[in-house]
Amino acid sequence: MRALTLVADRELKLADVPPPPPPGPGEVQIRVKAVALNHLDLWGFRGMAFAKRKLPLVVGAEAAGEIAALGPDVSGFRIGQPVVMYGALTCGTCKACREGRDNLCENVKGVMGFHIDGFARELLNMPARLVVPVPDGVTLRDAACAPIAFSTVQHMLFDNARLEPGETVLVHAGGSGIGTAAIQMAKAIGCTVITTVGDDAKMEKARELGADHVINYRTDRFEGAVRKITGKKGVDVVFEHVGAETFNGSLLSLKRGGRLVICGSTSGPTTSINLMQLFQQQYRIIGSFGATLANIRASLAKMADGILPVIDTEVPLADLQRGLARLESRQVFGKVVVQF
Ligand SMILES: [Zn+2]
Repeated sequence: MRALTLVADRELKLADVPPPPPPGPGEVQIRVKAVALNHLDLWGFRGMAFAKRKLPLVVGAEAAGEIAALGPDVSGFRIGQPVVMYGALTCGTCKACREGRDNLCENVKGVMGFHIDGFARELLNMPARLVVPVPDGVTLRDAACAPIAFSTVQHMLFDNARLEPGETVLVHAGGSGIGTAAIQMAKAIGCTVITTVGDDAKMEKARELGADHVINYRTDRFEGAVRKITGKKGVDVVFEHVGAETFNGSLLSLKRGGRLVICGSTSGPTTSINLMQLFQQQYRIIGSFGATLANIRASLAKMADGILPVIDTEVPLADLQRGLARLESRQVFGKVVVQF
């Protein structure tokens, strides 16, 4: 069967590998149909000194597929059923897992496609507890964007930032995969959404998605624009994933007692902050990584209700690298999905 493997930094190879054995107890076998790309894939592709992994590594961290076979004791799934898979091999037995907070698992074996073999292969076995059925009416292409992109946003906005209807939220990089999801999810509960984009063509697209105010961060200082839009009050919540370039401006965009939730730092990992400002303004800064299985179910339910991922590009498996280049170029508006 085909598997797309990373053989060295920035070098992918479409390999012919043996299929997995029949699924064991507690496992299901999945035929992968679509893999969605995230910035995480780009970090993995470029190579990161701190990433503990062995090459070659099957890439792909976020995917959807169909049940191909069931382990001897597995019930609740049927052959051919559309499913998505959790993006990390968590233990299922530690306190965090038992409480449904898999993204805080104490014994996690790693993130799929990053530390351990991922989803860009035709067949794989997964623990059934990490597999979530896709509701009727949601395509596998769209569902592939649920386990990381949509559920990361769900976790950030609702579990962590506790976004409420009527609040104002600043969504950075509104054209990114998670940005496009965040705009839609915040609008769906009745928030005012301010977003930033890097070119004028994306401004219109962001408005079409529902953003109330769109700032071109290349021509306008976003923190000044946000203060103007909010009548100097600032926003209730900032949705951060750009990091170094934007972090201090993001804090300046918050109202007193506002919440900043951050799940990434695509522009660089370090910054300095003014601690006086932090406590005087009573900011709450919340780090967020990954999501829970409940977040994946909630994301799929939102898709079934019509909040769909914005798809920028679809590429065949052999062209995954072209998809990564598209992601790296910052030209994207929405998600890049790899079809099998
Ligand atoms: Zn665990």
